[in-house]
Formats: sequence, structure tokens, C-alpha cells
Amino acid sequence: MPEAVPCPGCSGGRFETIFEDCSDLWLRIPGEYPVVRCLECGLVQTNPRPNPEELEAFYPEEYAPAGCPMPDRPMGRTPLVRAFRWVVALPYRLRWGREFVSRLVPGRVLDVGAGNGSRLARLEGRGWEPWILEPRAETARETAGRLGIPEERVVVAYAEDADLPAGHFDLVVMDHTVEHLSDPRAVFDSISRLLKGGGRLLITCPNYGSLESRLFGRWWMGLDMPRHLTHFGAGTLERMAAESGLEMEDIRPQYGTLVMFSVVFRHAFAKGLDGSPGAKTLPLPERLVAFALEQLATVAQAFGYMPMMEVVFRKPPASVREEA
Ligand SMILES: [Zn+2]
Repeated sequence: MPEAVPCPGCSGGRFETIFEDCSDLWLRIPGEYPVVRCLECGLVQTNPRPNPEELEAFYPEEYAPAGCPMPDRPMGRTPLVRAFRWVVALPYRLRWGREFVSRLVPGRVLDVGAGNGSRLARLEGRGWEPWILEPRAETARETAGRLGIPEERVVVAYAEDADLPAGHFDLVVMDHTVEHLSDPRAVFDSISRLLKGGGRLLITCPNYGSLESRLFGRWWMGLDMPRHLTHFGAGTLERMAAESGLEMEDIRPQYGTLVMFSVVFRHAFAKGLDGSPGAKTLPLPERLVAFALEQLATVAQAFGYMPMMEVVFRKPPASVREEA
């Protein structure tokens, strides 16, 4: 049975329904759940949501450990396509500058819900010391093995239960994790404790407040029902982090994901799941449409089109809390 829970944002219990009976558009696992908005704090959420046992069934083998599975680039990665994409991405780089994390002095970084570890690998290459916090033992071991991370820097636990010292990390990253958490408030509290004063939390997640979400409505892939339990916009994410003492410092569209979560990509993904190599096996006209949408979305990101957001929070140096 789906379980009705108090609002994960404010523990309130009064909601308005936005979409009834949403189903799993990615993997088509049966089950229907509503998207509602809390009348107290405005947080958009899946409620009632799958109970823990039902939720397990929505994370089959092909979903883990990479997190949200993605189709291949529709036009492949030939030098010509890469050169074209580089040109298309120029306005984004002019608007948003270098990656936020490149401004930081490398230190100790904790990846919460490390998935396939692609971001950790990049950070390690720039001098960061990678740590993994991941509830699935298998995923944690695989990722640690691939990146050569020693055992003492791998913690298998849910973020709210992590046995790690307070004030230990310069950076915590959560890539497409926060929207899956059953108790995001507890996780923000835990991360705030683990961060050093002046440390940063970097979150990427779908932006419910985006134009794309409004355009596609219940068909927006960023809902990823019912795996996404909370559908944050910039405002609701900022409020929840603030309650744990974290200040929003930067927000920008997340670059480098397939930003146009359109029906075309859904189609491409469905083919990929059947064992074929994804978008490259689509007929040429569909590949061209997918490619065009992707380039259009990349250009639009320079002008604030933000279906996926990358948000940086900072723990003020004065709020260092030493807890046992
Ligand atoms: Zn609420």
C-alpha cells in the first residue's frame, strides 16, 4: 500500500493535488501516485508515496548504480559533432563562466549517493580527496574499486545515519540524490554537521520551477515518478537548506546532462533498455530531432532555461557546531 506521510518540508498534513495517478515513465514499473503541494510550506512532493518495500521495486538493476540512466548522444561523439557542440555551448560558458567547483581550493570531498562516481573521479583529478557515502554496499564497493578509494574512506549508510566526524569535509556533493531521499531535512542536518565552517554543499537535481516542467506537466521526465519523492524548485530547496543553517551561494543550469527531457529522449531510452545501444539505433529523423532539441536547450541555458539546477550552499564559518 502506498503510504501517506507528513510533508517532508514542514511536517504539515494539508495538500492540494497537482497531478493525480502519475506512473513510471522511464521504466514503466506499475503503480500510480499523485504529485501534491503542501499548503503550509509549498513543497511539491509525491504523497502518498511507495512504502519502502514498493520503492525497492522501482530501483531495478538497470537503474543502479549510475542513478538515472541516460541514452547515448543521438549523433554520437565524432570529432565533428564534438566541435559543433563546443560552439553551441559557448554562450553557456560566456554566461556562467567556469564550473563553480573550480573556484574552490581542493580539500576533502564527500559524495552522498555516489552512484557511478563520475563526479568524484573528476574532482580527484583536480586534487580533491574523495570519500563515499552510499547506502548500497555493492555500489559503494564497485565505485570505490574503480576509483581506487581506500576502504576507510567508504561509508555504507544512509546520509542521516552516517558515522563520520563533524566538521570533516570541505565539500559535499549530491548529484541527483536529494529528490530521492525519504527524509531530506534529516540529511541536510547531517550534512551541515559534517561540513567545516565555510564548507560547501553542491546539489544537482531537476528544477520543478522550470519552464520545461511547466511545458511538459505530468509528462515531464524530471518528475521521474515515483522514484522522486520531493520535487524541489530553487525556493523550496533554499528554504530547506536554510533550516539546517546553509546559505545559498550560487545557482545555475546544470551543464552536460541531456537537458531536454522530451518524448524523443524517452523513446531513445526505451530502445536502449531493450538491449540495443540506445539513441544511435533510432531512425535518422528522430536522431536529428533529438540532436536539435539538445542543442536548442544548450543555447537556452545561457538565457536561464534551467530544467536541471546546480545549487551551491555554504555553511557560514561562525556556525560550526561541534556535536558528539
Ligand atoms: Zn510542508
